[in-house]
Order: sequence, then structure tokens, then C-alpha cells
Amino acid sequence: MKTVPGFSGKVTEDVLLAEHTTMGVGGPAPLLLEPSGAEDVKRVLRALNEIIVIGAGSNVLIGDAGVNAPVLKMVNGLKKESNTSSGSLKVGAGHRLPALVGAATEAGLSGLEWAVGVPGTVGGALVVNAGAFGSEIWEFVKTAEITLMNGETVTVAPDVVSWSYRAADFGVEKPYVITEVELGLLSGDRETIRGLIREYADRRKKTQPVGAASAGSFFKNPPDGEPAGKLVDDAGLKGVRCGGAVVSDVHANFIVNDGGARADEVYTLAEYVRRAVAERFAVELEYEVELIGPFNYLGDEAVESGRV
Ligand SMILES: Cc1cc2nc3c(=O)[nH]c(=O)nc-3n(C[C@H](O)[C@H](O)[C@H](O)COP(=O)(O)OP(=O)(O)OC[C@H]3O[C@@H](n4cnc5c(N)ncnc54)[C@H](O)[C@@H]3O)c2cc1C
Repeated sequence: MKTVPGFSGKVTEDVLLAEHTTMGVGGPAPLLLEPSGAEDVKRVLRALNEIIVIGAGSNVLIGDAGVNAPVLKMVNGLKKESNTSSGSLKVGAGHRLPALVGAATEAGLSGLEWAVGVPGTVGGALVVNAGAFGSEIWEFVKTAEITLMNGETVTVAPDVVSWSYRAADFGVEKPYVITEVELGLLSGDRETIRGLIREYADRRKKTQPVGAASAGSFFKNPPDGEPAGKLVDDAGLKGVRCGGAVVSDVHANFIVNDGGARADEVYTLAEYVRRAVAERFAVELEYEVELIGPFNYLGDEAVESGRV
């Protein structure tokens, strides 16, 4: 395997990506690189022709066959933070959103309370325009530092980024790596901020399978009509299972790994759900989770009905 000159982060050969995703599925990768800072990222991009970037792995489904390219994991070593008196909070892209909410609260800065139950990194959040309870991350971004494949770094601001529901287009070619993000927040009273955080956390606990191995909402809500979870529920699919993968009984838009699920089982269940919803309601559900394949459909006979 080609080495990266000067790289000072952690290097692991022959890793199982299941250990690096919240769903707990995903096959092997030849190399996992965990940069210790932005300089390391530049070194990696200059040295390698091909990489796969992940953050906390909380919005991806990686196939059982794994990947051939080295994986750059943007979590550890990219957590530095600083805040200014003008309400801006600058953080390394590897900061996880719940920790970011904690840092903002400590600094008396409000705006990100909605993100407390989102287990991804801030870098990953920018890529997918993560959001909840009526807010989205790009509403709060002032600038993002992005390193391109040639090692060059560009600073982008929201006015050049086209962002919409769970999507953001930076106008740069993939793969790119976000290394640092500056957020603009408002001064707020710490007790009020904590109250909002508690409220959002409670709402999640009541409506989502908190603590289960998942990738969050599996499908995007269609632009018109009912949300994805309601369509899946109304199609009678709660509790439907393929091996270790099951449609959550708590929230039908969550597919949960309840023990040793393979990626193909998750994929088969997801495709089965999509087809059932299309047949019943003529709605094509779009994946919110990013699929890094290939995947195999194991057949309808691999799917067992749950409560229906
Ligand atoms: C229990 C649970 C609840 C969730 N709730 C929500 C929710 O309410 N709202 C919501 O929007 N999402 C939610 N999610 C999904 C997920 O947490 C978010 O989408 C999160 O922002 C993804 O960040 P990540 O670091 O895990 O990205 P990953 O899943 O690792 O990667 C996602 C994409 O971002 C890219 N990427 C990651 N980091 C970088 C980087 N530094 N530079 C360039 N590209 C990068 C990857 O290449 C990939 O394309 C939930 C997930 C779980 C498990």
C-alpha cells in the first residue's frame, strides 16, 4: 500500500468498516487514515489518487464487500475549537454535533440546539445539510475550509453553496475534504439554551429508536404529501425484517441493525420497503442514507413480515 509522506495521524491497515459506522455494517478497507490536522489532510490528498471520506459514519451504508480505496476518517484530530466575542464558533470538521452543541452552550451561543441528537461530525453535516426540528446546518455556516484533491485549500461561504433539504452543492469536484467550519450563532441565555436542548432530546426519545444501531432516517421525506416514516408505517412495514435488519417499531423511517446485520440485508429490506411504498402509494422514496456499494438484493423470500 502506498504510504503518505509526513503523515502524522493514525494509520491502520485492513480495517473492518462496520466498526466505523453507527449502523455497524460494512466490509473491509485496505487502509484507514485518521489525520491529526489539516496539514495531514493535504498530505493525503496530494499523495493518493483515490480516497473515500467518512466522518462518524452515521449517514452511510457501506457494502459487505467493503471498498478498494483508502478511507480518510475525519473525526479524531480535527476537533479544535475557538469562539469569538462576535458570536462565531470555529471548529475542526471532526467535531461531533453533540459536542459542538455543548461547546456552544458553554460559550452562551444559541442556534444549534436541534443538533443535540445527531451523532455525525460537523463536516459530514455540511455535506448532507443535516437538520432537524425546522433548522438546517447551512443556516448557521459563515465559512468552510475545503481541501481539494490537488492539496489546494479554498474557503467557501453560503452564498456560493447551493443547499436544500439534505443536500449541498459546493461547486467543487468530489472528493473534497472539509477541514474547518466557522458558524455564526446568536448570544443566548445558557438556561434557555439548556431547556431547548432537553426539549429536543425528549422529543427524540419519544419518537425515535435512540440507542439502537442505525443511520438515522433512511429515506428523505417526499417533497409533497406524507413524510417517509408515515408512508412506511401506513404500508404496514413496521417490524418487517431481513436477517439482522429490521424496520423500527418506534419510527418506521429507521432501519435498525438489531444484531449482526449484513449490509445486503439492510439493502434488501430498504429496497423491499421502497417497492412496497411505491406499489401502495405511488411514491418513489429516495435514499437519505448514502449507499457505498455494491449491494445484492437477496430476494423477497429473505424478507419476513413483522407485525402484519
Ligand atoms: C440516531 C441518528 C439520528 C440522526 N438524526 C439526524 C437528524 O435529525 N438530521 C439529520 O440531518 N441527520 C441525522 N442523522 C444522520 C447523520 O448523523 C447526519 O447526516 C450527519 O451529519 C452525518 O455526519 P457523519 O460525520 O456521520 O458523516 P458520514 O456518514 O461519515 O458521511 C456522510 C457524507 O459526508 C461526507 N463527509 C463526511 N465528513 C466529511 C468531511 N470532513 N469532508 C468531506 N466530506 C465529508 C462523506 O464522504 C459522505 O458523503 C442521524 C443519524 C443517526 C444514527
